[in-house]
Amino acid sequence: MQIPFEVFREPAVMRARVEDLRRDGRRIAVVPTMGALHEGHLALVRHARAQADVVILTIFVNPTQFGPTEDLSRYPRDEAGDLAKARPAGIDLAFCPPAAAMYPPGAQTFVEVRELQQPLCGASRPGHFAGVATIVAKLFHITLPHLAVFGEKDYQQLAIIRRMVRDLDFAIEIASVPIIRESDGLALSSRNAYLSAEQRHAALALSKGLAAAEALVKAGERSAATIVAAARAPIEAESLARIDYLELRDATELTPITDRLERPGVLAMAVFMGTTRLIDNRVLRP
Ligand code: AMP
Repeated sequence: MQIPFEVFREPAVMRARVEDLRRDGRRIAVVPTMGALHEGHLALVRHARAQADVVILTIFVNPTQFGPTEDLSRYPRDEAGDLAKARPAGIDLAFCPPAAAMYPPGAQTFVEVRELQQPLCGASRPGHFAGVATIVAKLFHITLPHLAVFGEKDYQQLAIIRRMVRDLDFAIEIASVPIIRESDGLALSSRNAYLSAEQRHAALALSKGLAAAEALVKAGERSAATIVAAARAPIEAESLARIDYLELRDATELTPITDRLERPGVLAMAVFMGTTRLIDNRVLRP
């Protein structure tokens, strides 16, 4: 039976609604986002729709995961447009709280996944993953899902959330959806909206680098240095691009692979195009 669509803003009211739905035996899925929805987000919604009776979309631009010099104030916000896209993709309920409802004065408790939060994006964005893990834990407590769906685009985030769920005994299944890309290879991102036409074109170097590395591995290459160099080459050839990091790491533990790729690794990168920081990754299996 379909339930009436509603947008919730108060954590306690959202949770009371889900508690009712759970009492009725419904399987609940949540899709956490920061809004500015694109086809990548909608793929998560469709995945959730196929796996659950009730799909909750959350939209919250979480201040604690932005650094002091980052794009919190200019992050694109369009709740009405987002809901108009998400409803036909299959959401039943939305949770769009104001920041004050999520962080009342005096809030001071954080969740940290100590090792996995250190490298890659964690090294460039101190405090980012504590903000992510904390808001996701809060959203889990408020939306009480059986299933939560995340994108592989944010690979380290996904690894951190899986570990948090295991370590803190959340009774929640975590599902992931592969990276959705434009037809030319650029990974969809809300931040692509910041790119000029020239930067948009130069940004193809990220997926080109990943494809070059993957082709080498498929051809039998196992030297980590050679694989990383192949991924760096097209990006370094772009004058508009500046590599923040580009690393090959263990696909589960995110520890460095510096010698040979003999187990699944993730080639992960962050690249600045002007002031816009883009991320992309690919899992490489020897
Ligand atoms: P965000 O709104 O950027 O915080 O992303 C919300 C969720 O959408 C996260 O689980 C992301 O990994 C996922 N996501 C963002 N972009 C993509 C994409 N291109 N393909 C798949 N998932 C994505």
